[in-house]
Amino acid sequence: MIVFAMTCDELAREMNRRWGKGLHHAAALYREVFKKGNRSFFKAPEFVSSPSLARQVEKTVCWPSCRITARKKDNVLKWVSTLADGHCVESVLIPARSRNTLCVSSQVGCKMGCRFCVTGSMGFVRHLSAEEIVWQVHAARFQLKKPVHNVVFMGMGEPLDNFHEVMRAVDVMSDQRGLDISHRHITLSTAGHADGIQRLAALNRPNLRLAVSLNAASNELRNQIMPINRRYSLERLREELRAYPLGRDGVIFVEYVLLAGVNDSPEHAHELAEYLCGLSARVNVIACNGNGSSAFEAPQPDRVQKFCEWLAARRVFVRLRRSRGEKIMAGCGQLGASIMKGEGREKGGEAS
Ligand code: SF4
Repeated sequence: MIVFAMTCDELAREMNRRWGKGLHHAAALYREVFKKGNRSFFKAPEFVSSPSLARQVEKTVCWPSCRITARKKDNVLKWVSTLADGHCVESVLIPARSRNTLCVSSQVGCKMGCRFCVTGSMGFVRHLSAEEIVWQVHAARFQLKKPVHNVVFMGMGEPLDNFHEVMRAVDVMSDQRGLDISHRHITLSTAGHADGIQRLAALNRPNLRLAVSLNAASNELRNQIMPINRRYSLERLREELRAYPLGRDGVIFVEYVLLAGVNDSPEHAHELAEYLCGLSARVNVIACNGNGSSAFEAPQPDRVQKFCEWLAARRVFVRLRRSRGEKIMAGCGQLGASIMKGEGREKGGEAS
C-alpha cells in the first residue's frame, strides 16, 4: 500500500479488503503520517489495541524513498530531493506574511522547452509519481518544519502533461484527514496544455486554481518562445479557457514573464489585453531574471512598471510580482540549474 498516493477512503477500502478493518484504522494511520509526520503509526492507540493488525499493516505499507540532499536559503528556501532512482527535483518554499507557499515539481525535466526556462533546457526525463509529489509537501512540513498553506505546481515540469499522477497527488494533499490543503489553496500552472485544461474542466473541480503561463499574445512570438504553442495555438487555448468552469474566485491567473525587447512593448500589452477580452483573468507580470542562464535579459524596472500601466489602462486586472530567490537559482524559470551543476547529487545522507 503506497500510503502517500492514497486518500484515507482508499486506504480504508484497501484495509477492509485485506484484513476486514476499515476507516477507524485507516484514519488513525493517516492522522499519524500526515498530521503528525510520524511513520510509527502502530504506536497509535487504535493499533496498540490490535497488535496483530498493526504488524500486518506495517509489513504492507510502502514509504517514499526520497531524500533531501541539498538546501539553500535566501528570501526563499529551496531544496533538492533525490528520488529512489537517483534523479533529482527541486522545490521552493516561499514565505509571505504569515502564509507559506510551496512550489512543487511534477516532472524530472520538462518536454515543453520554454526558451526562458532552465528546466526546459534539461529536456524530459520522467514523470513524478503522486507519491513523489506528495512527499515534497510532507517533507516541507515535517522534515523542514515549515507550515505549508498554499501549493503551486510551478516547479519543474508541466503538471497537465502528468495529469493522472498530479490529480492523484491533489486528492491526497487535499484530504481533510491528512495534509488538508484545500483546492482553493492549490494552483495548477500550465504552459498552455489545452488538452489538459479540457480534461481538468471535465473533472469539474471549480475551486482548484488554474494559472496559464502566457508570455505572448501572438502566435508568431509565442511559437518562438514557447514551442507548446505550435501544438496548442492561442485560439485553441482561449477556447479551453472560456469553457473552463470557474470557482468562487472566478478567475484564471495569467502569468506573463517580461523579456526585455521581446514581449514588453506597448503593442504587446495591447495584444495581451485584446486576447484576454471576455475572459475572467488576472495577470501577474514578473520580470525575467536575466541571470545569464537564458538568452533573455531582464527589462528595466520602469519598463516593467509601464507595461503594467498599459495593461491597467486597458482595464486588465494586473499585478506586478517580484521574483524571489534569484540569488540561489530558485526564481521563476531557474529551477534545475543547481541540479545540472550536480548540487544535491552526493550519495551520502541527508544534507543538514
Ligand atoms: S516554464 Fe514550465 S512548462 Fe515551460 S519548460 Fe519550464 S517547467 Fe516546462
